[in-house]
Amino acid sequence: MKHFKITTENSRLSARDIADNFDDIHPPLDGAQAIVEAGRCLYCYDAPCINACPTRIDIPKFIHQIRSGNLDGSAQTILSANIMGGACARACPTEVLCEEVCVVHHTEGAPVKIGELQRHAVDHLMAKGGAHPFVRAPLSGCKLAVVGAGPAGLSFAHRAAMLGHDVVVYEAKPKPGGLNEYGLAAYKMANDFAQTEVEFLLDIGGISIEHGKVLGDNLSLDDLRTNYDAVFISAGLGSARGLGVDGENLAGVRGALEFIEDVRVAKDKSSVPVGDNVVVIGGGNTAIDAAVQAKCLGARNVTLAYRRGPDAMTATQWERDLATANG
Ligand code: SF4
Repeated sequence: MKHFKITTENSRLSARDIADNFDDIHPPLDGAQAIVEAGRCLYCYDAPCINACPTRIDIPKFIHQIRSGNLDGSAQTILSANIMGGACARACPTEVLCEEVCVVHHTEGAPVKIGELQRHAVDHLMAKGGAHPFVRAPLSGCKLAVVGAGPAGLSFAHRAAMLGHDVVVYEAKPKPGGLNEYGLAAYKMANDFAQTEVEFLLDIGGISIEHGKVLGDNLSLDDLRTNYDAVFISAGLGSARGLGVDGENLAGVRGALEFIEDVRVAKDKSSVPVGDNVVVIGGGNTAIDAAVQAKCLGARNVTLAYRRGPDAMTATQWERDLATANG
């Protein structure tokens, strides 16, 4: 569990401290660590971890490929099921998905580190460069439109391009990536990984992205229907829900997603203003992301206010532990 530098009674954090706080929260496994960790897997026949993975990655297969030194094959196994396997390895709450049901939990007290192994294999393939690992089918002549360049839209675009279709993705924001670029705590997606992953994905060819396009504003569904063979809408969740209470629009009151985006887009994190005393309203992972990042930026006191008890919070235990371990 990472312990961040925090503001003390006598001094706020320096710009260097803040930059350190936003370093990668999970240092990657090295080659030897990955082999040892892969060796803990029992390669279950009816692997419960596969069913717990929302994208049904063949987890025992990719772990076995790591164990046998076939990192390229391992990455191919992961990316065949989920082209954004690199981002998911960093951001998925694996502790309540694949790792929660890992049988090694019961025999050794801790699950196989599936997320870290997944990252090890995918990072290897991306760092290696060279030809894109998937090839396009012969061109179909179909043109598809995608609204939204977030994880769903880009995954769809990649699979459609593989099948030989040409795809145009329309995105409102200046950068592609959606949630991965704008909506996750910066220490979960460090070193501009969201953009690295998008560039990797676009390497397949046949996908173009147009920015500054907002459905219902300068982009019409009727036009898309007329000009394309099919339209896939993956516009995302948009902004956070307001509380509808007095004072909601006062200075210093921000939606959690806006605040997280401010931190993500800031090259110098110390330029993001944060007060001494911060209250975050909510009990989910996004609330924890906002609360922990406020602390990382130098807030002295951060309070999480939630209308129900701890048992009803949707934030995972790992996220709660991260928050409490850092004051
Ligand atoms: S449940 Fe655990 S031990 Fe079994 S295949 Fe999945 S990762 Fe390996």
